[in-house]
Amino acid sequence: MKVLLFGPPGAGKGTQAKILAKEFNILHISTGDILRDTIRTGSELGLEIKRLLDQGEFVSDELINELVKEKLLSLESFILDGYPRTLFQAEYLQKIFEENDRDIDAAIFITSPLEKIVRRITNRRVCPNCGRVYNNISHPPKASGICDDDSTPLVHRDDDKEEVVRERYNIYLERTAPVIEFYKKNNKIFTVDGSMYIEDVTKELFNILRGVSDI
Ligand code: AMP
Repeated sequence: MKVLLFGPPGAGKGTQAKILAKEFNILHISTGDILRDTIRTGSELGLEIKRLLDQGEFVSDELINELVKEKLLSLESFILDGYPRTLFQAEYLQKIFEENDRDIDAAIFITSPLEKIVRRITNRRVCPNCGRVYNNISHPPKASGICDDDSTPLVHRDDDKEEVVRERYNIYLERTAPVIEFYKKNNKIFTVDGSMYIEDVTKELFNILRGVSDI
């Protein structure tokens, strides 16, 4: 099963991708996580990526295409979270899949209005060690500011600050919204309202995935 999840920042792609990956026992590939791992290496490339991410900007299409290509061509099943994010990336993905006789099963678009996104992301806290995501209001950790699983102090991502979130949303409208039109053409697109309760979004996603695959 090959599934793409996309939508504005803070619509719940990462949260849902983790749940789906566990339920269907398939790999969750997050381009945001791959980039943050590269930043943690402290390399020259990592520093350049950090500069872009801190401003809410995208890394170049060429770089991200190169970072994901091998995984996408070698894995039989995956949930891809955060890619493609531009028309160029969508066209690239289609080209390498056609060349290799592959196809996606579903492109799922998770929507959410801007003010809900701002509220959700500015309250988001992440464990820098295990990647678990919390929300100070809807899913707080048991002890304030500490990860339930490994007791690591939680962090507020630099790109989750309000002004950066608003900038990321504008970039999303300009660069990622056209990707929705791209997938509409091949009838593989499904839309889910990401502003519902997490459990309700998950239920809809389960139904979609069961409908497109025999797992
Ligand atoms: P995410 O964790 O998916 O919200 O991604 C965090 C940031 O990583 C984004 O705001 C972008 O700056 C960058 N990023 C992630 N995926 C991509 C992509 N497919 N193309 C370009 N930049 C990306």
